[in-house]
Amino acid sequence: MTTPALEVEHVSFAYGPQKALDDVTFSVEAGRCAILLGPNGAGKTTLFNLITRLFDSPTGAIRIAGYDNRRQPCQALAHLGVVFQQPTLDLDLTVAQNLRYHAALHGLSRREADRRIAAELERLEMIQYRKTKVRALSGGYRRRVEIARALLHCPALLLLDEPTVGLDIPSRMALVEHVHGLAREGMGVLWATHLIDEVEPSDALIVLHRGKVRATGIVTEVIRRLEVTTLAEVFEVLTAEE
Ligand code: ATP
Repeated sequence: MTTPALEVEHVSFAYGPQKALDDVTFSVEAGRCAILLGPNGAGKTTLFNLITRLFDSPTGAIRIAGYDNRRQPCQALAHLGVVFQQPTLDLDLTVAQNLRYHAALHGLSRREADRRIAAELERLEMIQYRKTKVRALSGGYRRRVEIARALLHCPALLLLDEPTVGLDIPSRMALVEHVHGLAREGMGVLWATHLIDEVEPSDALIVLHRGKVRATGIVTEVIRRLEVTTLAEVFEVLTAEE
């Protein structure tokens, strides 16, 4: 059996008296796009902050490609690519400069970095923007650059925190298609969203509500388990419990 891209075991977290995650357990297999689906305040960003080690998890364990992110943080983070909710590119640098900086942080030689940058930009059909300042790009293209950056060091796990918020529909759908393609090629993806039209039937779902995992499984299994007929109704069930 291959090592899962991500294992989250019995993780809880609170902001003072405010409980944000309660005994969360799930895993993401390599080659699978897993959608972390939950309404506002469900705990998605908190979970991402624990996986990326922006916060320390006081309980349970988080492993990335088999590496414990508390006991083996360097190995764990070396296998992780992240696109945060808020864009983090330097607007005054070119696309290539932003990517080279990230490659250097991951210890890639300049030659290797340039080879991978060219390959990622080709895949995203934006090689012609290599020398363009990020400030001049549309929101959709900026997001593509962030994905290229997250992939430069060939991570086992790609984390996406609502990356399509604010994009127009064609850019959103292009991004959705690209990420599903990455999973088909073998990457593990964890994608936080509350937009159900971004979900494909073969995706794994982790339904999070008020910090608890309500259901996991592929889309059809979750729909059956929650005794609804469509994914949209999954949300209705959760909201009805508010
Ligand atoms: P959204 O989709 O709105 O980003 P989310 O699913 O990412 O929501 P979180 O931001 O992780 O949810 O929030 C989970 C819970 O923790 C919510 O009840 C939220 O109000 C609370 N929370 C989040 N950040 C803080 C904070 N800094 N201090 C106190 N409570 C917080």
